Amino acid sequence: MNRRVMRAAALCAAVCIMVFAASAGAQQAGQAQQTATSTAKRTLVRAGHVLDVTTGKLSDAQTIVVVGDAIQSIAATSSVSAQPTDEVIDLSAMTVMPGLIDVHTHLTMNPDFDPYHELISTDAKEAINGVVNAKATLMAGFTSVRNVGAGGFTDVDLRDAINAGQVPGPHMMVSGPALGITGGHCDENLLPIHYHVVGDGVADGIAEVQHKVRQNIKYGADLIKICATGGVLSKGDDPQASQYTLEEMQAIVADAHRLGRKVAAHAHGAQGILWASKAGVDSIEHGSYINDEAIAEMKKNGTYLVPTLYLEDWQIEKGSLPPFYHQKMVDVSAVAKRNIKHAIQAGVKVALGTDAAVYPHGLNAHELDVYVNQMGMTPLAALQTATVNAADLMGWSKKTGTLELGKWADIIGVERNPLEDVRVLEDVKFVMKSGVVYKGESR
Ligand SMILES: [Zn+2]
Repeated sequence: MNRRVMRAAALCAAVCIMVFAASAGAQQAGQAQQTATSTAKRTLVRAGHVLDVTTGKLSDAQTIVVVGDAIQSIAATSSVSAQPTDEVIDLSAMTVMPGLIDVHTHLTMNPDFDPYHELISTDAKEAINGVVNAKATLMAGFTSVRNVGAGGFTDVDLRDAINAGQVPGPHMMVSGPALGITGGHCDENLLPIHYHVVGDGVADGIAEVQHKVRQNIKYGADLIKICATGGVLSKGDDPQASQYTLEEMQAIVADAHRLGRKVAAHAHGAQGILWASKAGVDSIEHGSYINDEAIAEMKKNGTYLVPTLYLEDWQIEKGSLPPFYHQKMVDVSAVAKRNIKHAIQAGVKVALGTDAAVYPHGLNAHELDVYVNQMGMTPLAALQTATVNAADLMGWSKKTGTLELGKWADIIGVERNPLEDVRVLEDVKFVMKSGVVYKGESR
């Protein structure tokens, strides 16, 4: 058996394990989804308070009527009486709002940066990681994610398994392998040349990047992720140095947009941010060295900024990075928050992203605390980064981001009003996704 066949067999084994390992709850959820759709059963969510994340208005004693996977109506509880066949969920002690969205996750990866562990990772292991981490993310109240970088298209299979009801997890928009230059942040640089290891997404020059965009789409990518500059968790590259040229990024964006895919650009250095925005990417991920010129370009083009800031706090407090990553983390952390705060104050559009995988999955809502208590955002603006703004960036505004008729019934409940303290979202008590309850049912 050659290596490719062995890898295919290993992946098959992983998928079989995934199927058998799917929890009873997930299978019930899948069945519940089917039942709800086939019989159009109504579920009444009796909410103590409903928070409108567009206006900040809190409405007391509301009932959200869910039919199948969608919201059918929202009205005063006094005006919605339960029919004998209705399922009634009592959230009268909770504040209810739309499910949260994280536009920068790596669900198939874990926070283990020991170089040897990185090298012995396999697609099968990553697929299994994805099953575990998708559930942790959903249980934390994140009902949608944009997954920006995974090896072997494991994110495509994870998305499909979630959509098929095999395993619990958020709605996923996935990129497959991130595109990057030879030797760049998105290549594999740990081994010397005689091992001949090349990252899945490596492509240089116009023709190669066009081919790679088309190949990623062929194998199931919903969006294209690229590395515009160097990064922190990679060996031998400089976060401030541009990697793709303006012309390469223009070619990527032209193909991706023509084929109906958005583009997310990892970019720390100011020139890379500027070029990526000029090229027409839809979001800048990280943005650590953003300057006034890049801010102006992003505002002109409507490019979203996706700061990933809580990871710095977590890494400094609890991380253990190898020396060739650690110093870069220290250098970037020293300036990123000041620059990002300046960009936010200047009015750049922001969508919440965490880079979950650099720290444990399920802590995603800690990012909101950083936006409010370190970046100076209002609590409402912070909630919007994780709802309406994130949905807008993903092109999913008609599906999620607010509680409105016809949208997915993606609903979370917390014990207090998040506008008084966003940290209440670090302890979400109730999670419904597509009309199926995954956490905190009380009837
Ligand atoms: Zn990332």
